Amino acid sequence: MNRVFNFSAGPSMLPLPVLQRAADELVCYGDSGMSVMEMSHRSPVYEAIISDAEKLLRKLMNVPENYKILFLQGGASTQFAAVPLNLLHNKADYIVSGQFSGKAFKEAEKYGDVKIAATSKEDNFTYVPKTTRESFRPDADYVHICFNNTIYGTKFPYIPDTGDIPLVADMSSCIISEPVDVSKFGLIYAGAQKNMAPAGLTVVIVREDLMGNSRPETPTMLDYKTMADNDSMYNTPPCYCIYMAKLVYEWILSLGGLEAMKELNLKKSALLYDYLDNQDYYIAPVQKESRSMMNVTFVTGDADLDKKFAKDADAAGLKNLKGHRSVGGMRASIYNAMPYEGVEALVAFMKKFAAENPKK
Ligand SMILES: *Cc1c(COP(=O)(O)O)cnc(C)c1O
Repeated sequence: MNRVFNFSAGPSMLPLPVLQRAADELVCYGDSGMSVMEMSHRSPVYEAIISDAEKLLRKLMNVPENYKILFLQGGASTQFAAVPLNLLHNKADYIVSGQFSGKAFKEAEKYGDVKIAATSKEDNFTYVPKTTRESFRPDADYVHICFNNTIYGTKFPYIPDTGDIPLVADMSSCIISEPVDVSKFGLIYAGAQKNMAPAGLTVVIVREDLMGNSRPETPTMLDYKTMADNDSMYNTPPCYCIYMAKLVYEWILSLGGLEAMKELNLKKSALLYDYLDNQDYYIAPVQKESRSMMNVTFVTGDADLDKKFAKDADAAGLKNLKGHRSVGGMRASIYNAMPYEGVEALVAFMKKFAAENPKK
């Protein structure tokens, strides 16, 4: 076995103990005589898996009683439509702090009067715009944000104050990386493939009073109430992904929960940012206050060197460091599953690369 350090933004690394446990149980789960992949989702043994996954995530994130947790399909991108279909009757305000929030905004425009309340687009999304309660229309049905901007490497350093307006957050690339106060949000959604499970699962955490008032054209499958009333089993759920998510939640709880995760993630990201701040070969474009713990972006300032960096790093066992195709440069995604040693290896490689590849 020769596992590499995989810095992919998603799908991304899964914790090794989780993969090993899944391997142990792959062919025969408990005394069921079958793989989780082969089970009826209506069987008692599978019902226990999905119900445990729900309870564990509720415990991990301290999700209040009046919120439902839904295990859905379609990825975060399907939520760009599901959110307005369920919540938009009149107006909605969006903070556009990167590509995904831009896509979410565009999708919502199909359904009503949607406005960009704040954006950092003119500065290449190098920071998260500041807002106050006055930034939002008081009669908006909701305010939408993307809490961690995967492509640019920024994260909201604050939770926007929206008063009584429900706050909706795409947390695909930062969910369960640190504690968040769920009660500050009306709805949280996340594609699982960044920090929770393999691709194919989308988690939605929604306050109960926001369900049951969807637009008439809402497809049954996208109606949160349908899914909540059926405990995410209106149809066949992404069974195996939910099982994997359950193993990931157990792994995090065994390490001390989200406080412990945050400490580790701070330590990992600080190692990389401290290095970036104390050298002059690489440039970290993100404003300090908006830096993400999960996705760290940097460039050399020379597109050819950037290319060489990703190629040489790959050869050294540090995979997927090339930045998103829309922005170039480099991006190190260091989610929960990335060990501290992976970031140490990256910093050592960066030093070596800088020494061996002087700029012209
Ligand atoms: C990856 C990502 C998406 C897109 O997720 P899909 O599951 O591929 O639709 C949306 N938002 C954020 C913040 C992401 O990181």
